[in-house]
Amino acid sequence: MKILVINAGSSSLKYQLLETKTKNVIAKGVCEKIGLQNPTISYKHNGQEQTFKGAKNHEEAISKVLDILVNKDYGVIKSLSEIEAVGHRQVMGGWVYSESQLITDELLKQIKKFDEFAPLHNPANVTGMLACKKVMPNVPQVAIFDTAFHQTMPEKAYSYAIKYEDSQKFHIRKFGFHGSSHRFITLEMAKILGKKVKDLNLIIAHLGNGSSITAVKNGVSVDTTMGLTPLQGLMMGTRSGDIDPAVVQFLMNKKKFSIDECMSYLNKQCGLYGVSGVSSDQRDVIAAAKEGNKRAQLALDMLAYSIKKHIGSYLAVLNKVDAIVFTGGIGENSDLTREAVVSDMDELGVVLDKKKNKNFKRGEVELISSDKSKVKIYVVPTNEELMMAIDTEEIVKKLKKSK
Ligand code: AMP
Repeated sequence: MKILVINAGSSSLKYQLLETKTKNVIAKGVCEKIGLQNPTISYKHNGQEQTFKGAKNHEEAISKVLDILVNKDYGVIKSLSEIEAVGHRQVMGGWVYSESQLITDELLKQIKKFDEFAPLHNPANVTGMLACKKVMPNVPQVAIFDTAFHQTMPEKAYSYAIKYEDSQKFHIRKFGFHGSSHRFITLEMAKILGKKVKDLNLIIAHLGNGSSITAVKNGVSVDTTMGLTPLQGLMMGTRSGDIDPAVVQFLMNKKKFSIDECMSYLNKQCGLYGVSGVSSDQRDVIAAAKEGNKRAQLALDMLAYSIKKHIGSYLAVLNKVDAIVFTGGIGENSDLTREAVVSDMDELGVVLDKKKNKNFKRGEVELISSDKSKVKIYVVPTNEELMMAIDTEEIVKKLKKSK
């Protein structure tokens, strides 16, 4: 089945056209600077890349993408009827949705209520859905929630130790994110280890520009490092991750920040970027550290320590762990980070094979633990878009059956 997968941001819209049977990406690209000056649309297909003039709003962006996909010179499909459904990434499913859902007017109303939890992403996701509904009114649309996979967390793991009445009334709790990635890896690991999903205990480290680690017990998420928002947990590209909440008050006093300025600072000015002063991109920070930049080295040390510490806590939570899995841009590519994270954990049954960790073909599944290791260590490429397409296909199949 050909599925269009959409990830709409406030001024960008990523798209991928996938064939679920072959798992092939037929075409993909990004509409950037939507509504801003010099908007563009990139389009990759069959090893070629083209750039087109972009759009002034999301609706126009979707229309232009569809025109590109069916163009008779460089398009990849003959007619729009080949697209059987659209899957939308939806950042917040809150406490309501533990599975992907067919998009209806009722669902859209409910999703709008989550705006206050993700003010940047939630309205943008909805804009993408509305735009697609308008341009492709007869094509089923599905919402895939970043938070859904973590709805299995027990209350003791997702609750914050604030006044119970307040956490209940305002839904202040951990939701977790990167659900499509953590779920994809869980399903992949069942195949790789030849086990049933329900028999799997994993620690999945999704490390990229945004990062989170999930403890998977009996195939479901029992804890994850991101919280009410994606700011909690690990140190990230530009996000601080865990800090003492009192730091907010200090920063507001010392830098004369409003609360919004302070939150923007913690989301956009901190992490690898803030500590190193070099970049949010780990490759740049590694290069600077190699040249003797001490702040860059500190940023890398802090990042690895932050990951190690959370993996350690989940080893304690799970007790028996089949595998620690590294994924995401950093997890899949940075042997340096992986080595720094899992070194000196042999007493805990975690032993890296340093050679294997360095020398393997990128983009492939690789076992990188030594034979002595009680806990296996894997690198597994994630594929959030494929997970979204598979979910979308399942819902569309059910919909067809029910008709
Ligand atoms: P993602 O958000 O999953 O696309 O991951 C982006 C992060 O992966 C950035 O910090 C990149 O610097 C990092 N990354 C990508 N390739 C490498 C590499 N070869 N070595 C180190 N970090 C990498």
